[in-house]
Amino acid sequence: MDYKQIIEEVYQEVQEENQRGKVADYIPELATVSPDQFGIALVDLKGNVYGVGDYQVPFSIQSISKVHTLTMVFNVFNNKLWSRVNVEPSGDPFNSIAQLEYEKGIPRNPFINAGALVITDALCSKFEKPIQQITEFINELAGETCVKINGDVKSSEFKHGERNTALAYFLKSYKNFNNNIDEVLEVYFSQCAIEMSCVDLAKSFSFLANDGFSIFAKQQIISESSARRINALMLTCGFYDEAGEFAYRVGLPGKSGVGGGVAAVMPHKFSIAVWSPELNDKGNSVKAIKALELLTDKLSFSLF
Ligand code: GLN
Repeated sequence: MDYKQIIEEVYQEVQEENQRGKVADYIPELATVSPDQFGIALVDLKGNVYGVGDYQVPFSIQSISKVHTLTMVFNVFNNKLWSRVNVEPSGDPFNSIAQLEYEKGIPRNPFINAGALVITDALCSKFEKPIQQITEFINELAGETCVKINGDVKSSEFKHGERNTALAYFLKSYKNFNNNIDEVLEVYFSQCAIEMSCVDLAKSFSFLANDGFSIFAKQQIISESSARRINALMLTCGFYDEAGEFAYRVGLPGKSGVGGGVAAVMPHKFSIAVWSPELNDKGNSVKAIKALELLTDKLSFSLF
């Protein structure tokens, strides 16, 4: 399979079509990035990297970090965790508050903000220095020191964090939050403010394409069955209220972030990260989704 040629074709076609969206501005610092950037990096299971465009430029990974934090608590909390968070698609926006009330403080899944806050709360119970340990974990997965937390994005999120703060208080009122709210929010905003390039992000997802074994960390990160389950969650919940459309158009487990990134995996073949900052009205990157749709069309395979 000539991945290099395929991603170059995809890149050209997406650029020619030039569909536009809107850079996220509810976190003001995110609106300062230049909107025309676009990069793709595909990493196969031998460690070969195929990149095109701005694939080496670090960007804000935002909610893609929710996959890394879920992985960190998955083993230890496995059964306990699933009494605190469900595994159903939400069909609602990522930062919705309403559903949390009528479902009595149990978030629909670990990838909407409410669910991710429960995961980060669990992570804060497990690790003594959670921010440092998240950073080290992702560096390990990528096989190099590549994670940087952007302090300006982090404080911008804190300053405009009313919804996430409300979600945390709501969870606490349902006794589904064990640690100090400000401390957990600090960790959550730090993980969202992580910057990485497409190539490092794709490497950090490689273990999910490889039955839980990371060729970059050279170790089994989680069991094969856990890797399969995280992929199932990405497929059903990774794009919030656009998860069905992503499965329909692309057919790969993946996770988006409001920085414009999408990371996805084709089990037993490759991991891929695509980034372009302009988003559709569901908060997912317009060009990244188009690129992945073209990719699986050209490959003539997806998960299905
Ligand atoms: N930091 C963002 C938030 O909490 C992450 C959302 C996202 O990427 N979808 O609102």
